[in-house]
Amino acid sequence: MKRRDFIINSALAVGGAALLSGCSKKEIKKAQNQVVRRKFDNTDTPLIALGCMRLPMRNGKIDMVELDKMVEYAMAHGANYFDTAYMYVEGKSENAIGEVLKKYPRESFILADKCPAYLVNKPEDVRRLFEEQLKKCQVEYFDNYMVHNINQNTLSNYRDNDMYGEILKLKKEGKIKHLGFSFHGDPQMLKEVINEHKWDFCQLQLNYLDWEVVNADDLYQIADEAGVPVIVMEPLRGGVLCNLPEKAVQTLKEKCPNDTQASFGLRWVAGKERVFTILSGMSNLQQVKENIDTFVNYREFSKEEEKVAHEIAQIIQSQGAISCTACKYCMEVCPRGINIPAIFGLYNMYKGSTQPNRSFMFVYNYKALKESEKADKCIDCKLCNKNCPQNLDIPELLKTVAKEVKEAEKGMA
Ligand code: SF4
Ligand code: SF4
Repeated sequence: MKRRDFIINSALAVGGAALLSGCSKKEIKKAQNQVVRRKFDNTDTPLIALGCMRLPMRNGKIDMVELDKMVEYAMAHGANYFDTAYMYVEGKSENAIGEVLKKYPRESFILADKCPAYLVNKPEDVRRLFEEQLKKCQVEYFDNYMVHNINQNTLSNYRDNDMYGEILKLKKEGKIKHLGFSFHGDPQMLKEVINEHKWDFCQLQLNYLDWEVVNADDLYQIADEAGVPVIVMEPLRGGVLCNLPEKAVQTLKEKCPNDTQASFGLRWVAGKERVFTILSGMSNLQQVKENIDTFVNYREFSKEEEKVAHEIAQIIQSQGAISCTACKYCMEVCPRGINIPAIFGLYNMYKGSTQPNRSFMFVYNYKALKESEKADKCIDCKLCNKNCPQNLDIPELLKTVAKEVKEAEKGMA
């Protein structure tokens, strides 16, 4: 897209219908292909945003050509919100998205970043990390900036080092526009955190599975009662809700034939009124196109569809799947390089399958992992547990998977 076209599209996205009068037919058509937006503190924010946690990879590196196409497509359709973090893609996400976004006017995109609470050991660390992040992203300010991942392990870092106060100083200096936090603790902790300061927004893990079987309903209600706007992370639970068990796929096909697994999950989240944007970690242009299509042709979630979501959540729960979102935070601290998300992903696929060859596929795919990455190489040091936002007991679950691989293998003999 030429820069002139881009500016026209951006103006249409930001300015809305008032700017459309006087535009040629072709330009109006472009405007009709914009994603729906919601108001957040007088900012017109796209309801779908590009999460930069699972960027496209090629030969072990971020695929910058694909990322460039993804951003261009998103910008052209008004999906101009990008969310990154210090630790995403082993610390390379910020550089990558900064490199791609630098060709666009700064005011044309919304950029969110986060201060890693687990790396803050004294108040001065906040500013040091922040300045580093600005440089990596090649910007002068962040639109939204968060204390990243408040949970039972990081709560003391956040409180003892006055991370809120330090970030508030940055806001007063005009280096961030809005101050929030992302959260992976329990409802009681959220109540405390949300009420101890004046937050512009919070970022919560919200999807129909967590709503049914964990505590996302309680978390949302707390934010709603506190009047704090919500950004959603993991709307598809790290891919679980777009890799549904076969029985759930059938249910969705029969009852919601116009939805893909992803659009169903995203529309469910969008039905929550306090939500102003939904982060989806997209890994290729095709995913960007599909997600944007959901919000260009946006349909509200119906009461009937709520029942289908409930049914699917029950099916998933009955499979005994591990609630891993494939965030890879555990792998950053694992001294043995165990491929934890891949192992849990294979296990969940196995549990969700009704195919006669499910055991064979499970064992076959598991054996394809590198020897050094397998579950039985875990030394039970438990370092990973501290980093898991889903509070999983990872070494115990690895033992379960290793045992089930052996049983599946025996069953095949
Ligand atoms: S407990 Fe196992 S998986 Fe976890 S960090 Fe230690 S070796 Fe890695
Ligand atoms: S086990 Fe936990 S930390 Fe590791 S990838 Fe899964 S959700 Fe993330």
